[in-house]
Parts: sequence; structure tokens; C-alpha cells
Amino acid sequence: MKVCKKCGTIQQDDRFFCIECGEKLKKAVSEAEEQKIREEITENIENRAEAADELGVDKRMRIAAVLDVIGVIFAVVSAFVLKSQKDNLLIILGSLLFYVISFVEAIFPNFFWTLTKLKIWQYANAEDIEPSFWYGMMRKIGVWGLMIYAYAAIIFLYFI
Ligand SMILES: [Zn+2]
Repeated sequence: MKVCKKCGTIQQDDRFFCIECGEKLKKAVSEAEEQKIREEITENIENRAEAADELGVDKRMRIAAVLDVIGVIFAVVSAFVLKSQKDNLLIILGSLLFYVISFVEAIFPNFFWTLTKLKIWQYANAEDIEPSFWYGMMRKIGVWGLMIYAYAAIIFLYFI
């Protein structure tokens, strides 16, 4: 393994000039150095894979989606239990909407990401926009926040 001193590109031992920048290559790196470089590459790939997973539907998101479905049932049952006082119904309808948004955001993350991308496209002409870490965090807060708020609002109705 040879590493270009100028641009850092890694290449095979039989090359004399860098495939990227044309710089003359020095002798191959030692085995220990090679091992270190391989570890760095693996780590880099893992980090990128993790970042790309920011919009994934992991186990926690599935649990959130199930809780949203239970929440919808809870809301419908509560609508009957709490009788048809107008204010109660409005709060229950609002909670239903929150459960649905939370559910869609948990199970179909690309739906909201596409909407966000459309918004970004208006200003910047970028093509491959990746969701940032912050965007992923906001999504998680959105999914759990809306659901917990909806539960709290309905439970509150039982005590007033
Ligand atoms: Zn080079």
C-alpha cells in the first residue's frame, strides 16, 4: 500500500505516480501503518453508515409507532367515555391529529424529509441533500413530543 504525500490517496504498491494528482509516490508504507490506515477507513465507513441511518426506522421508532396506534384507540374510546362535551371533542380531535403526524414521521421518515428538501430547493440548487444530525434529532423530538403531548392532553381531560 502506498499513500500519496500530496493528496493522501491510497493506492497499490506497483504504482509510481498518484492516480489522483500525478505526484511521484515514495516507497510503500510499513505493515503497522497499513493496519492503522485500514482501521481509519473502517471507522470512517461506520460513521458514514450511522449518519445515513439518521432517517432509519429503528426499534425505538417502531415502539413509538405502536404507541401512536394505541393512542388513536385511546382517543376514540375517550371520546365516548368523556361524553360529547364540545371542548373535550376538540382536544381529542387535536390529539388524534398529533398521533397521526407522529406515526407518519416515525414510520415514513422520507415523507417529511421530502417536504423539507422541497423547501430547501427553493433557495439552494443542491441535488444530494443529506439530513443533518440536527434534523434527525428534531425528528425524534417531534415523534415522541407530539405523542406524549397527545396522551397528556387526553389524560388531563379525565381529571377536569
Ligand atoms: Zn496524490
